[in-house]
Amino acid sequence: MTPSTEAPRSPHLLILGGTTEARRLAEALDARPHGGPRVTTSLAGRVARPALPPGEVRVGGFGGPEGLADWLRAHRVTALIDATHPFAATISFNAARAAASAHVPLLALRRPSWTPADGDNWHGVGSLEEAADALTGLRARRVFLTTGRTGLSAFAGRGEGMWFLVRSVDAPEPPYPARMENLLDRGPFTLDGEREVLRRYTIDVVVTKESGGEATAPKLTAAREAGLPVVVVRRPPVPEGVTEVATPAEALAWLDRRT
Ligand code: NAP
Repeated sequence: MTPSTEAPRSPHLLILGGTTEARRLAEALDARPHGGPRVTTSLAGRVARPALPPGEVRVGGFGGPEGLADWLRAHRVTALIDATHPFAATISFNAARAAASAHVPLLALRRPSWTPADGDNWHGVGSLEEAADALTGLRARRVFLTTGRTGLSAFAGRGEGMWFLVRSVDAPEPPYPARMENLLDRGPFTLDGEREVLRRYTIDVVVTKESGGEATAPKLTAAREAGLPVVVVRRPPVPEGVTEVATPAEALAWLDRRT
């Protein structure tokens, strides 16, 4: 870890990324004609070929909240934006602790939750394990699992005769359900594409995390049109007392107010 040699007061924004919104924010800052702050995006390193944002990119964990606080100090970060996925609960709590300890202003850029529309048949659950239980209750036979490649063990050994279509960016590793097909794909997804997936694989239940955002929402519309139940895993808690915005534009406005 080499401390920066620049003047202590030059603005340096660290974006905790891994989401479309994080990339959009880095792109918007990069596109500013008059130049903006130095921008570093941090990725966890879970995806083999991530879509990279403009600006500097660092990859890998920091070593807990203390490690992140050290990084903020060593690289003279002047603002921190937690733009991680709503289900990345650990890093959001780490960000809150690190920002407080390093005295760096923190903003959470968190996409709004989805809300059910008329005709939706959603079943809210608290975890992937509860989602697996709900599938049994719904007598699911052919399940479209869109919760990513981690946590699939919750569905392994469940529901005799149940078959899973697992969509993920990278191939899952065991343990996962014995009767499974993996569909490698990355959002954004289209409504026509989602209709086609439900039809081609004769899906009867969809499982999703309550991620929010537009990129992965078309499956909800497709499920509603087809009259299919959707098991929705609710979001984990977020740290209290962190200023929160919903869009990259609002995050830019927050940054502008600070400079
Ligand atoms: P997590 O459970 O909150 O974090 C676990 C650990 O991974 C953290 O303690 C941290 O390690 C490291 N980490 C997480 N995000 C990081 C980042 N942006 N930069 C550097 N280190 C990071 O997170 P997760 O659910 O595994 O998600 C990992 C990443 O994938 C996140 O950045 C998130 O935005 C993205 N993502 C997650 C999901 C999801 O469903 N969970 C979906 C789409 C994208 P240290 O403690 O060592 O710092």
